[in-house]
Amino acid sequence: MRILLTNDDGIFGQGLIALAEAIAPFGDVQVVAPERSRSAIGHAITLHKPLRMDMHYHSSYTVQAYATNGTPADSVMLGYYELFEENIDLVISGINDGPNLGEDVTYSGTVSAAMEASIIGIPSIAVSMGDFKCENFEGAAEFTAILAKFMLKNEIPKNTLLNVNYPDLPLDKIKKVRMTRLGHRWYIDIVNKRIDPRGSEYYWICGEKQYSKNEVGTDCRSIEDNEISITPLTMDMSHTDEIAKWSDWGDKLLNLCGE
Ligand code: MN
Repeated sequence: MRILLTNDDGIFGQGLIALAEAIAPFGDVQVVAPERSRSAIGHAITLHKPLRMDMHYHSSYTVQAYATNGTPADSVMLGYYELFEENIDLVISGINDGPNLGEDVTYSGTVSAAMEASIIGIPSIAVSMGDFKCENFEGAAEFTAILAKFMLKNEIPKNTLLNVNYPDLPLDKIKKVRMTRLGHRWYIDIVNKRIDPRGSEYYWICGEKQYSKNEVGTDCRSIEDNEISITPLTMDMSHTDEIAKWSDWGDKLLNLCGE
């Protein structure tokens, strides 16, 4: 089995180290990860500067690991085209230091790495801890290994990735694994205004989370209920249900152009 691991917290991330240990027995497992934290970098790729990929000699890794100055999505490209020469069975991204729920998936470097794999056509999993305390990376890593085996045996649709959020509990304390849809996450006090030492204003984006209005069946609610949440995601963001309702917009707009 040929498996590429990556993350957005960087090559020293405890979650990635725990993941590499749990996935190592699967066979040819290699890590390509950013050399520093690139959290919330989204799906960015690097087009205007050289990318490096250096062997990482940290003793925490028993598998081959490379650090790159690129993003999580770059890491997937480097791993796929350069290291594995276009032959990978699975990409796993994580384990992220904190949740990736609801709209967070659009900001997340962790999820974007899995999306990049999905675009290439490789099955992929993004895994995040449901809490920022992150005391149970080992449990999350153990569960991810179980899920990876299960996923490889049960074919999933092409261009579908699994976004996993794992409550911060030991694996034997988990009562439910729920297949979910994306919820909606609220943050309050998102933009903090402060004053720098020279008296000028500056801003710091750092909201406080408020999730509790979500229904059962959403990823946000599932994590609040201490369940493992698995959300299948696809890259097609088209609002398919709405397209038919707006079928006359094209002609109406064209008429307006002629007026
Ligand atoms: Mn992160």
